Amino acid sequence: MNKRVLIIYTGGTIGMAVDADTNALVPFDFENISRKVPELKRFDFNVDSVSFDPIVDSSEMAPDTWVKLSGLIEKYYPDYDGFVVLHGTDTMSYTASALSFMLHNLQKPVILTGSQLPLGAIRTDGKENLLTALEIAAAHKNEQALVPEVCIYFQDKLFRGNRTTKYNAEHFRAFRSDNYPPLAEVGLHIRYNYPYIRYTTLSGTFSVARRMNNNVALLKMFPGINESVVRSVLEAPGIRGVVLETYGSGNAPTLDWFIKALRDAIDRGVIIINVTQCLAGNVEMWRYETGRHLLNMGVISGHDITTEAALTKLMYLLGNSPTEEELKMNLNESLKGEMKPVSM
Ligand code: ASP
Repeated sequence: MNKRVLIIYTGGTIGMAVDADTNALVPFDFENISRKVPELKRFDFNVDSVSFDPIVDSSEMAPDTWVKLSGLIEKYYPDYDGFVVLHGTDTMSYTASALSFMLHNLQKPVILTGSQLPLGAIRTDGKENLLTALEIAAAHKNEQALVPEVCIYFQDKLFRGNRTTKYNAEHFRAFRSDNYPPLAEVGLHIRYNYPYIRYTTLSGTFSVARRMNNNVALLKMFPGINESVVRSVLEAPGIRGVVLETYGSGNAPTLDWFIKALRDAIDRGVIIINVTQCLAGNVEMWRYETGRHLLNMGVISGHDITTEAALTKLMYLLGNSPTEEELKMNLNESLKGEMKPVSM
């Protein structure tokens, strides 16, 4: 039987067209996608589409929209072999990371893509992104999906979604994944990087974890950061977890007030996870005195995780961990390939 792939359009540039009168970008009726992309009919698998109504710019994405999106995947999961999620590029890495944690026992591809230029523009990058994402979502061998993961496909690379960052607001190559190799590279052929694809042996049924706790914050270090700024984040009402973006291999100032502010937060039960500001590399808090003091006070290493994955993992774990002990244990482990195994 023909494979079936569902396109879920959430919003973003890809689904826009240039209004001839005003030159502004306006959404087109996504039901008519096959008029914009007639190539869809040439695949040897079936393609259907559903659309958010209303569509959202990806700046509006939040836990409730992730729940809505994963609810659609859950609703159509039995009927389709793979999913392509069309999404604005701005927060695509956050959504891909969140979905990777929220979707349990995923055995089918969920490929996010979008574009820098709308499908309606002559030089659009959206068409290639959409068509290749569809091909990857439909790719199977012996009834096993080739990439049963949440991924981002953009320009010519397929990445594990929770390893990506949007780093370029101009170029067609908008995403990178410095700490994990691409799962596929696309040229004349789609070359899958099989050893890096996550094939789970889980046989449980697919389900969605809907509780995401957004009582989290991001605190980025910079030289000269002052005490009231640090305290306003660490002491924000209701805060449960903080991603601390540190320098290099996980280093931060050793100033007395800074240490005290962090210690006070940890004593109040706030979880603090250390992530590097660098695009590539690893947090190694033992390496310098400026990292060791964080380790000693109970700051948790984010290892080589991205900020996007750290924030969404915290939201997921705060919403789904029965005990603080379990939460900390899971933070230290790779749940969905978002960081390298700690023993490595
Ligand atoms: N502002 C748009 C969005 O992220 C940009 C894009 O789609 O690339 O929704």
